[in-house]
Amino acid sequence: MSAVIPLQRADGCADAPVLRERGQREVFCGLTGIIWLHRKIQDAFFLVVGSRTCAHLLQSAAGVMIFAEPRFATAIIDERDLAGLADANEELDRVVRRLLERRPDIKMLFLVGSCPSEVIKLDLSRAAERLSREFLPQVRILNYSGSGIETTFTQGEDACLASLVPQLPQASAQDPASLLVVGCLPDVVEDQLARQLRAMGIHELQFFPPRSSRALPAVGPNTRYLLAQPFLGEAARALDARGASRLPAPFPFGVEGTTGWLQAAATAFGVSTARFEEVTLPARERATRALARLRPRLEGRSVFFFPDSQLELPLARFLSRELGMRLAEVGTPYLHREHLRQELEWLPAGTVLSEGQDVERQLDRCRAQAPDIVVCGLGLANPLEAEGLTTKWAIELVFSPVHGYEQAADLAELFARPLLRREKLAAEAACN
Ligand code: SF4
Repeated sequence: MSAVIPLQRADGCADAPVLRERGQREVFCGLTGIIWLHRKIQDAFFLVVGSRTCAHLLQSAAGVMIFAEPRFATAIIDERDLAGLADANEELDRVVRRLLERRPDIKMLFLVGSCPSEVIKLDLSRAAERLSREFLPQVRILNYSGSGIETTFTQGEDACLASLVPQLPQASAQDPASLLVVGCLPDVVEDQLARQLRAMGIHELQFFPPRSSRALPAVGPNTRYLLAQPFLGEAARALDARGASRLPAPFPFGVEGTTGWLQAAATAFGVSTARFEEVTLPARERATRALARLRPRLEGRSVFFFPDSQLELPLARFLSRELGMRLAEVGTPYLHREHLRQELEWLPAGTVLSEGQDVERQLDRCRAQAPDIVVCGLGLANPLEAEGLTTKWAIELVFSPVHGYEQAADLAELFARPLLRREKLAAEAACN
């Protein structure tokens, strides 16, 4: 018997109209993903082929991280005309050779494209092929684009994983069914989810990306995969092309999302209801109790999401259904209807959804609604705070461990804290 846990359904937004906007955007580019990708794949190096702006972005996104042996860098390609392209390719080869000679610990090198016109003229896939011929099998050299023209910040991870899929070993039709969890997760979260899935009896289990480039999971017709992140459209397409199939599921945020996500795996692998209950119930109850303590601080408060990370829909679903928050507007840079089907069904009917961005118009809508909290990028947060609105940086939600039962209360706390800070400031101002 398979596990079936009845989950409360809202009327939902499955067929709700979406406001599509194509104006000026205020979002980080895909280079930002390097900050969490380099922590995950511990023997990989990310070489951005870009400009001084790209180097600054990485520096400031990486914040105060100081490395004895950094695992990302920028090869700065200065302005040059087409006649200088041959030199640019030679220069890139020289930089790569120098790097790999100095750093024998690097087993996988990503050449990451960016948007300056000099870089666009360079064919990085050919550069990766050329350099691979020279360095295989010691180092695998791949390329993807993190350009701000093509990617918003979480799409960098999608592009990176999509570039890695063709490198995965082939599993055959005779291999047993296996589960692949797709998307970068902090190690602590990965370990928790792995423990729960294995406790249910799912032992053919792997994570993608792996912690080491030498442990790439095999993929084939018996691979079932669960997306851990909602921004992996290209990676999913590449896995489908390798014969793997996606298990439709909500995303593992909050109690409901995590239960639905684990349940999708349990159903596909024939885990009994009793076993599923036994494994998940203690953690579910702990998380539910922890959320109940935070609910009074968030219930009835309104939240407005600017489009940033593509995590917006699952987070909005969690905040509205498990914490009683009101959704003023839920913006997302890109809405993948199929991957987000369950999330859409779970959103309260009538939720205002927007896709893409026209920042000035969205700012007007935000000001008109005067929400209690605004989730937005760093560029918008300061001006909105100055106007008296409370903000939460979207990027923090990507950097923090927020998936799974054990992190459900931490995730709620990320929204409760700025509200509390604002209340304290207001109370102090009233006293003075
Ligand atoms: Fe700026 Fe483009 Fe470089 Fe990103 S890739 S930092 S958007 S120049």
